[in-house]
Amino acid sequence: MKSIIINNAEIELDLNKIRRKIKINKNDPIDKDLIKLFNDIKKIANPKGIYIPIVIDDIGENYIKTKNIILNSRILRENLKNTKKFFPYIATIGSELEEWYQNIEVVSEQYISNIILQEICYIMKDMLIKNIKNNYDINSASSMSPGTLKDWKLSERDKLLQLFKGDEKRIGVKTLNDNLISPIISVYGIVFEDLNDYNNCRLCPKENCPNRSADFEG
Ligand code: SF4
Repeated sequence: MKSIIINNAEIELDLNKIRRKIKINKNDPIDKDLIKLFNDIKKIANPKGIYIPIVIDDIGENYIKTKNIILNSRILRENLKNTKKFFPYIATIGSELEEWYQNIEVVSEQYISNIILQEICYIMKDMLIKNIKNNYDINSASSMSPGTLKDWKLSERDKLLQLFKGDEKRIGVKTLNDNLISPIISVYGIVFEDLNDYNNCRLCPKENCPNRSADFEG
């Protein structure tokens, strides 16, 4: 099956939501910097996303297998045991914003920009999920990412990315050492039809994550 790419997407950034994430209000002296960075970023933004439908060949006790690739995770297996396919995805800010971000030298501006760029990435991820739900007639979908849970190790990342068969390069994504990818501000994982109201954030211990959508339950 072929990869589906979203490029040049119109994104709606909400300035007040960014203020809440940075924990400032309109009267804060730093708000002027935020507005400038917000407008600069909006001018350059060209986030991108990719996903591919993958059919599951086999499900074991703690793994799922597709083609010659085995993904090892008990929670992944539980989430996919009643489905026939899943959708590896990557959402990225794109090389244009990555280059712009690398030239920011002031620490406070780096911090603010990072929050805005992460928000762009998550908006792109939501767009991919919406696209998957529409194209595959799925009512409820959730996602999982290697490395966010102890149960699904970050070292599984390369196996997941192999499923794109090089198509990730078409949106400028490259794998780097130490389980990183470029652009650095990118998110990736799988989307699946969710029959059990799963939320990865409930099991993810990451502290102070500005994108957390549910409390950590341990
Ligand atoms: S808490 Fe943050 S890093 Fe962890 S799964 Fe949720 S959004 Fe992802």
